[in-house]
Amino acid sequence: MKEEVPRGHQLHYGFLKDLSSPTSKYVTDFHQNKQELARRLYRFFNQSVFDNQLPADMEISWNKRLRRQAGRTGFGKKNGVPYAVIHISDKICDSADRLRDTLIHEMCHAACWLIDGEADLTHGLLWDYHCAMYNVLVTTAACCTTSFTSQT
Ligand SMILES: [Zn+2]
Repeated sequence: MKEEVPRGHQLHYGFLKDLSSPTSKYVTDFHQNKQELARRLYRFFNQSVFDNQLPADMEISWNKRLRRQAGRTGFGKKNGVPYAVIHISDKICDSADRLRDTLIHEMCHAACWLIDGEADLTHGLLWDYHCAMYNVLVTTAACCTTSFTSQT
């Protein structure tokens, strides 16, 4: 019997999938481990979605003043060199899966600026393109799970 694979935010990609599991330390002790999780997710997304084109040391700050948005990306140039800072809402991002979804959203904004040289704040075509790369990763992983399940 073929198992139905849920779409959308039901992720099927090892570490990403674990973030929806009640036994993961990132789920049970989210507040203690959220800093580590943010860096781990950042490294993972940078490698698998952005081909390591984002800076390894991009600042990710937990922001207590962000109360209506889950995240925000700041842009600028220092000595002519573009940079981006990702702000994560302390109040809204209170779980591992929310952090995962917010971080990839903001990384797509950062990628528009740092990789393509355009600050796409309106979720336009460029931002959409980077999100599509993430969706391909997640969908492909879901398909692999399907074929693995049907063989067993
Ligand atoms: Zn946005």
